[in-house]
Amino acid sequence: MSHPKTLHVGAGVLTRYRNGACAFTCRHSGCRAYSEPRSWRAGLRQASRHAADHELPPTRRRRGRFAVLLVVLLLLAISSAGTYLAVEVFTTRATTIEGVR
Ligand SMILES: [Zn+2]
Repeated sequence: MSHPKTLHVGAGVLTRYRNGACAFTCRHSGCRAYSEPRSWRAGLRQASRHAADHELPPTRRRRGRFAVLLVVLLLLAISSAGTYLAVEVFTTRATTIEGVR
């Protein structure tokens, strides 16, 4: 190998220099992670583990979707409860009027 070998893993960049030394740097915004793994394979493991740490935003998005689902379910529950109450009140009134007669 005449030039450093680089591999992009997520936002991180794993580099192997001519002398065999490896370095991992992260270019994720706000993350300045840097490490010097013992070997290329160790670096790959570190890089993928570090990339997984940055996979948190999608998880948050999934949670957001879950929250939206919860809100929709809640609204459905409220609307059906409202309908149920309306029917209940209506039938109660109807029977009351019926009873008065
Ligand atoms: Zn990072």
